[in-house]
Amino acid sequence: MAERRKLIAGNWKMNGLKRDGLDLASDLAGRLKGAGAVPFDMLVCPPFPLLFPVGEAIADSPLALGGQDCAPQEKGAHTGDVSPAMLVDAGCRFVIVGHSERRQDHGEGDAAVAAKAAAAHAGGLVAIICVGETEAERDAGREQEVVGRQLAGSIPEGATAADTVIAYEPVWAIGTGKTATPDDVAAMHGFIRRALRDRMADGDAVRILYGGSVKPSNAGELMAVADVDGALVGGASLKADDFWAIATSCR
Ligand code: PEP
Repeated sequence: MAERRKLIAGNWKMNGLKRDGLDLASDLAGRLKGAGAVPFDMLVCPPFPLLFPVGEAIADSPLALGGQDCAPQEKGAHTGDVSPAMLVDAGCRFVIVGHSERRQDHGEGDAAVAAKAAAAHAGGLVAIICVGETEAERDAGREQEVVGRQLAGSIPEGATAADTVIAYEPVWAIGTGKTATPDDVAAMHGFIRRALRDRMADGDAVRILYGGSVKPSNAGELMAVADVDGALVGGASLKADDFWAIATSCR
């Protein structure tokens, strides 16, 4: 069985100005440094304008930096987009692609997500590829069919455990306070693990994160579920105490 170190990732979404981001990231970086050896990696994904100042503030700490999206192109006439190389330049090692808010708000389908992940890999970034079913799809019993299709279409050729993380985020659990039960999470993460093993030579070593209303009160039981290798956290990642409590619930 592959050893997978837990990854606790904070998706700040479109929240905070420079002062907020610097305060939050510096607080977390200080806690991480002070804690010494911990059984998890910690990552923050601020909005684009905050990447450079936050990246500079945490440069000498173990706290990692990531983008919330990237363009599939290297450079050029793509107004409003940000390339993987720009993220690396700001200090990023990770980038989230295919978040359900991007899929919904910007019409990004699996092929677009795969192109972004491939560009991230080519640029030297770890792509956190998000998948997850809607409430209607789960109610219809189609959650594995939907997630299976998203995985097949969103993971680019040549992806490895070193450059790819999967985040399972049921859309109905994001920002709603509703959380999947540990049994539901176990069933889906087991399904994703089998799909990764079929697809990738090192599929056993790929980290699979759970996301959707993770908070200090439910993190311990969720992080203890088989094949849950960490969390992608939205709302609760904006409070240092909550995000730290989620991370330290990892054993
Ligand atoms: C997310 O943004 O990926 C997320 C899971 O949000 P929340 O934790 O707020 O549900």
